[in-house]
Amino acid sequence: MVRPTLPGVSVSTESRPDRSADDGSAVNSDKGSAVPGAGGHPIRVPALSPSRAGDFKQCPLLYRYRAIDRLPETPTQAQVRGTVVHAALENLFDMPAGLRIPESAEFLVDGAWGALCEQTPALHDLVPDDQVDKFLSDAHKLITTYYTLENPTAFTPESCELRVEVDLAGDGDADGVLLRGFVDRIDVAPDGRIRVVDYKTGRSPGESFESRALFQMKFYALAILRLRGIVPARLELLYLADGQSLVYTPDEAELERFAKTLKAIWKAILKAGETGDFQPKKSRMCQWCDHKAHCPEFGGTVLPYPGWPSVPGATGTAESTGN
Ligand code: SF4
Repeated sequence: MVRPTLPGVSVSTESRPDRSADDGSAVNSDKGSAVPGAGGHPIRVPALSPSRAGDFKQCPLLYRYRAIDRLPETPTQAQVRGTVVHAALENLFDMPAGLRIPESAEFLVDGAWGALCEQTPALHDLVPDDQVDKFLSDAHKLITTYYTLENPTAFTPESCELRVEVDLAGDGDADGVLLRGFVDRIDVAPDGRIRVVDYKTGRSPGESFESRALFQMKFYALAILRLRGIVPARLELLYLADGQSLVYTPDEAELERFAKTLKAIWKAILKAGETGDFQPKKSRMCQWCDHKAHCPEFGGTVLPYPGWPSVPGATGTAESTGN
């Protein structure tokens, strides 16, 4: 595919290394920050992201396979489309406000797809040539829906694809945990109020899945509170498949309770990490799990536990990054 160009506009898919499986837009390749380990190999500083916390709550064995064993997973077309659309929307806000029109965004979708294919030629197997037009057409529809939710020519974000990292131990609690994640967009009003926006390329969740979305929003609200000392005025999830949005207005007391929840999750992860006792937990979510072959719930045998890698000078001893 010929990668289009637009004068003055750069197309990038590289700012965010990991996309969450939460919204069906994941390409699971998080990098995270790293410290040198034995033999000069980097070891990632332990951290908790919304996705990995969600994995552990859903199924500890799934968490292990993703965060510790780091088993490869096969992305779906929907996940890759999500990556492309997120990159296009990020690049859109690099443009002058007046140029952030639908035609620009569609152009950026095509460019982001081209850039992603250059980085990962294997994507041509996932999206064969005879399916590319449909793939891009579906991505354009998501962009069309995006414009029904907001007008990007009317404001300029403070930041896009912002990597946030904050240590909950900063409050003097020795049982702290490093939170890490990527925020799609942060808008700051002239009076200082903060709005956190996350794009979802799937449909808005039913009630049973809404709690997972709220979990992610509370996670980011808490991170912003710790980093800036301000409770975000508004958090919004924009669902580009059906044009719905989920809005959450956090309050500080609720976020402090949530901090305790995150610490409890991290404590449970560390405890399982000591022994390797990550139990499978069967649910309807298993239908999307790539690891049934190694899951006793589906007749598989659990892989030998590789152990919890130690990190020099860090609290805790293993990696759980990702978003
Ligand atoms: S198939 Fe289900 S129970 Fe097994 S590891 Fe995956 S999510 Fe867990």
